[in-house]
Amino acid sequence: MQNTNPLQWVLPHIRQIKPYSSARDEFQGTAQIFLDANENALGPLGSNYNRYPDPHALELKTEVSKWLAVHENQLFLGNGSDEAIDLVFRAICEPGKHKAIILPPTYGMYQVSAAINRVELVQIPLNDAFQPDVEAILQAQQQDPDIRLLFICSPNNPTGNLIEQDRIRQLVEHFNGFIVVDEAYLDFSTQPSVAQWLQDLANVLIIKTLSKAWGLANIRLGIAIGHPEFIEVLNRIKPPYNLSGLTQSIALDALRHHKAAYSQSVSTLVEYRGELAGQLAKLKLIEKVYTSSANFLLVKIIALAEAKKIYNQLITKGIVVRDRSNQINCNNCLRITVGTSEENARLLSALEEINNAF
Ligand SMILES: *Cc1c(COP(=O)(O)O)cnc(C)c1O
Repeated sequence: MQNTNPLQWVLPHIRQIKPYSSARDEFQGTAQIFLDANENALGPLGSNYNRYPDPHALELKTEVSKWLAVHENQLFLGNGSDEAIDLVFRAICEPGKHKAIILPPTYGMYQVSAAINRVELVQIPLNDAFQPDVEAILQAQQQDPDIRLLFICSPNNPTGNLIEQDRIRQLVEHFNGFIVVDEAYLDFSTQPSVAQWLQDLANVLIIKTLSKAWGLANIRLGIAIGHPEFIEVLNRIKPPYNLSGLTQSIALDALRHHKAAYSQSVSTLVEYRGELAGQLAKLKLIEKVYTSSANFLLVKIIALAEAKKIYNQLITKGIVVRDRSNQINCNNCLRITVGTSEENARLLSALEEINNAF
């Protein structure tokens, strides 16, 4: 519900936690000699690797806040967005008691993180257009007050479609709990972030990442945008040095000096996505290519063929895609990431061979 207390859903013991106070937290100012953190002063491997990184990643936060046009105190930076997802479960759900709603087919990590935190999931499938059934979600919650967390993924993985703004708005206004909106793929769409149009983020956390559009999956940088009071809680319960100095410096360099390359690669991938979708749709093996606002395509294989078999045939040709055929409403579907033009061409010729032999 809007205009509520941003800490309303935070568990009492979490509200009270005092963060680990690192050596670098307790000293402020300038000094030449640091004998406070039990680092190896000889730094046998050089490059400042011997020193702990900034636990608050302040410089990086400044750059991220400029990129996303939000205030620094609205930002949590994590070791991948998976860390933010895990911390939300821990902050909000009491293990064995509270529950969360997911809207399948969706990102598998919500389920893994829920299981680790012993949080039961209530699954309310997306409708035929892969949109949330707002009524069913609100009804489920009215019947079970232990439900207090909801995950919305937009664009959704593995379906690739955006969730309609109006449905997100209705859920934010009427869901009596905390909502995570995962925008890991939003860079590949033209829709503005929820952070841009939602007035009040009191009970909403928006997830972003450098893993997809920025092409930095290896450095593990996830971002969450929320109300400053809720963000403060996440910062208090995170491991103090969750972001390595290497991650921070590579991300800083990307955000400061490579915005043009980022935009260029996003528009190129969007262009390839369109071309690939057109080519895939021509194959008789493929019944449907779903509209995508992400950097992948969900394709439905015709009923006469089997997605799993095609997946295996592709593997024998050295190409790995994702078999999603066991997910709700993804019968006989494969998820294909858009690659380089050469990779896409090789995928297409492999599929053409399989198609012609069928
Ligand atoms: C890939 C992906 C992420 C990103 O995870 P990281 O831990 O930041 O790499 C988040 N959400 C969804 C839905 C994804 O598919």
